[in-house]
Amino acid sequence: MEATLKKIFAVVTDPYTSIVQWKEQSQKKVVGCMPMHLPEELVHAAGLQPVIFWRSNESITLGHSHVYSFNCGLTRSIVDDAVKGKLTFLDGMIFYDICLQGRELPFLINRNARPAFLEVMFIPGMVVGPVYKDFFMENLERLKTSLEGFSGQKITDDALKKSIGLYNKHRDLLRDLYDLRRKNPGILKTREMVAIVQSGMLMPKEEHCQLLETLLNDLKQRKALPDKKPRVVLVGCLCQTPHFDILDLIEEEGAVVVDDDIYVGSRYLARDVELDGNPIEALAKRYLRRIPPCPTKVDWVT
Ligand code: SF4
Repeated sequence: MEATLKKIFAVVTDPYTSIVQWKEQSQKKVVGCMPMHLPEELVHAAGLQPVIFWRSNESITLGHSHVYSFNCGLTRSIVDDAVKGKLTFLDGMIFYDICLQGRELPFLINRNARPAFLEVMFIPGMVVGPVYKDFFMENLERLKTSLEGFSGQKITDDALKKSIGLYNKHRDLLRDLYDLRRKNPGILKTREMVAIVQSGMLMPKEEHCQLLETLLNDLKQRKALPDKKPRVVLVGCLCQTPHFDILDLIEEEGAVVVDDDIYVGSRYLARDVELDGNPIEALAKRYLRRIPPCPTKVDWVT
């Protein structure tokens, strides 16, 4: 149990080293993906390794020549890392129009630190109505063609469904962990749960599924905290990982986090992709589902 958690914290505290080591072992190309809505399954089905961009713990310095200091921590960190040459191990990067700050990124990266593969995707901000599904599917097809060109590997429906199945399994295992925490408050510290989810965004899903299975088994040895502490649900909707020190404060003040509604948390594992029918349409449908609602999407109904 402790060895598994140690491995997880090593990945999230130094993704740079972990990803390079993994890349050397697998000889696969690695593609950085903008949170929160890019369909990683498509990248995986092309024989590439998707990793979700993370926020560095380093102070932003050079990056402030290119982005405003009031930009969010994630966009400033990506640009800062890129212009410092810390992301050269990424063979590709995919961005999309998540928000105005996110929209700046491909232009800045293209000019200052262009990787071998740089793709910009358009994901509809509106999520109500068939026209947006068609628009999204067109863009998914475009990304698919682009990934095939870069990887030299055709993305067949079967390959894509296999990747979707793996990602569904991964979400399922994470959901089991969340259920366990709801029923056994304190069985995992908040920083542990967040680190587990974030490591899943950085590691190959095949390997992370094995880690989750080990964890679920080992957690049978851990005890829940006495059922007297105030129960807290962690809420927010940032693309980035909350600072662990702040998460620790919640527990030091005597509360116990039993659930969350954050991206590096339950939002990452919400909603599976259907395995029947056209897999591109299934990916679009997952995004267009309106629960949980997301402030980066416009939904005038929910
Ligand atoms: S949605 Fe928010 S956190 Fe995400 S990139 Fe845009 S400004 Fe940053």
